[in-house]
Amino acid sequence: MIGSLLVDNIGELVTNAPRDGVADPLGLRRDAALLVEDGEVAWIGPARYAPAADRRIDAGGAAVLPGFVDSHAHLVFAGDRAAEFAARMAGEPYTGGGIRTTVGATRAATDDELRANVRRLRDEAMRQGTTTIEIKSGYGLTIADEARSLRIAAEFTGDTTFLGAHVVPAEYADRPDDYVGLVCGPMLAAAAPHARWIDVFCERGAFDADHARAILACGQAAGLGVRVHANQLGPGPGVRLGVELGAASVDHCTHLSDADVDALAGSATVATLLPGAEFSTRSPYPDARRLLDAGVTVALATDCNPGSSYTSSMPFCLALAVREMGMTPAEAVWAATAGGAAALRRADVGVLRPGARADLTILDAPSHLHLAYRPGVPLIRQVLHNGVPQ
Ligand SMILES: [Zn+2]
Repeated sequence: MIGSLLVDNIGELVTNAPRDGVADPLGLRRDAALLVEDGEVAWIGPARYAPAADRRIDAGGAAVLPGFVDSHAHLVFAGDRAAEFAARMAGEPYTGGGIRTTVGATRAATDDELRANVRRLRDEAMRQGTTTIEIKSGYGLTIADEARSLRIAAEFTGDTTFLGAHVVPAEYADRPDDYVGLVCGPMLAAAAPHARWIDVFCERGAFDADHARAILACGQAAGLGVRVHANQLGPGPGVRLGVELGAASVDHCTHLSDADVDALAGSATVATLLPGAEFSTRSPYPDARRLLDAGVTVALATDCNPGSSYTSSMPFCLALAVREMGMTPAEAVWAATAGGAAALRRADVGVLRPGARADLTILDAPSHLHLAYRPGVPLIRQVLHNGVPQ
């Protein structure tokens, strides 16, 4: 029995649970307190009415918000690609081809090496306020290596994603149809028991619309939810394919036509923006303002991976979204918490209300505005995950 825990003296509480009739997506409350019992939020109200509890954390007038929900991360890999990053910054373009470098290192790694790397990055993310993280496979690209990647990912999260269709591996370069057959057949069969989602890199140089559709349909038939890497490097069919298949999220959304935006606006599919990738490839950012003004639900995530976005920091991505993508600080905070939860179709995280998971961060700041206002500053004072101080 852990007992109850009161987080008291909260200057500004972001709940993402607006009161009826109030136009305030963040559901802000001032001078609040929050009671945790059995890993869940049990009560929220004015600090002066706070109930007794077994333990108490004094937030000291600081801001408290739901833990970040990072709905897009590639954490199961070995090696790093710092030299490739340096070459890009010296003028070489990003093509996605470096994924194969990581595939080689990942196949050569032991389970324990992969597990240690996931733990290191998960812990790093947690220290920066992330309490829910999605983890993809996609650097194994054999039946055994994809299955073990997902088995290891599942030790750290329930939101595991089978990304056997990340890139066509070198040994199938001349026969992509055969590789799609492998992904849809024995690889999916080995991966599905360890996965909640299926994902495809639908892009020129990776998988075209026909291959992506076939792979996603097989995953759906195996009971997996759909996500798509879409429209990152150029215009393409990925976003509309994702919407058509009822994807929970289409991710990147950097190069969108009006038809893509209209399709998203009329759907339940979230547009997940990954500004760490544009930062790290020195590419134009997606236009979040255009999506928000069209009524699209927008999420922010890190895309943490060793090639195109080696950051685990949601605060960094949030600051980029505000500075470079036309989001207000409030919209960015919502997208990094409730937006991520929507992208994972999770109702228990990204929100603070009775019954939700007690996943929250206490900032070293009086307001959520400081996350974008003070970029690069370690503002996460304390993280509670399932009600447990980390
Ligand atoms: Zn990705």
